[in-house]
Amino acid sequence: MKKNKVALIEDEADILEVIEYSLSKEGFEVCTALNGEAGLALIKKENPDLVLLDLMLPGLDGIEICRKLKADSATRSISIIMVTAKGEESDIVLGLGIGADDYVVKPFSPRELMARVKSVLRRGGVREEGDSLISRNGLVIDIDRHEVRLEGKKIVLTAMEFKLLHFLASHPGRVFTRENLLSHVASDDAFIIDRNIDVHIRSIRKKLDKHRDLIETIHRVGYRFRDEED
Ligand code: CA
Repeated sequence: MKKNKVALIEDEADILEVIEYSLSKEGFEVCTALNGEAGLALIKKENPDLVLLDLMLPGLDGIEICRKLKADSATRSISIIMVTAKGEESDIVLGLGIGADDYVVKPFSPRELMARVKSVLRRGGVREEGDSLISRNGLVIDIDRHEVRLEGKKIVLTAMEFKLLHFLASHPGRVFTRENLLSHVASDDAFIIDRNIDVHIRSIRKKLDKHRDLIETIHRVGYRFRDEED
């Protein structure tokens, strides 16, 4: 089987070494760079499956690299996990908004990091929304019939709630900011809907009852649908 290749861009040499070791031990092929410019060149040369991207880098920072990767059709589908320090929530929101897949906050354990890496790779860089039925813990979202059932019982959602739940559940484990969610679910007639995502999420959770924690709140960032392997 082909090894997944991970590019690691991190300016702190000791952290880089630890992460590189953990990734290699898990069977990943790893390439590394210690600053933004070298990182971008490395990614273009190596075409990795995933980039672990430190946000605070000298020169070209993580957000700029992320933006460049997403703007280039050759690198757009590469998955990105941002590596951030505590207190960089606004950068996380920005990064997720421009297409990063996930993030981890330092300090993190190698185990936590590996779980995030595997989860993102499992989901793949490009998502499709082809399934007509999503099923989880007794919750069934039937896209064709536009229906949600909870342990066999139909629950009534507004059109906006249905779109939101469907969208979140189609991307389990992925964190979305409120802006992400709004832009994905709001249609042209959006002027008639309440643009406050929190209100809709609260209402969905109430209807999901004891399964309400399927939708997780990510403090100061946004929401995500619980990943099966969490
Ligand atoms: Ca750094």
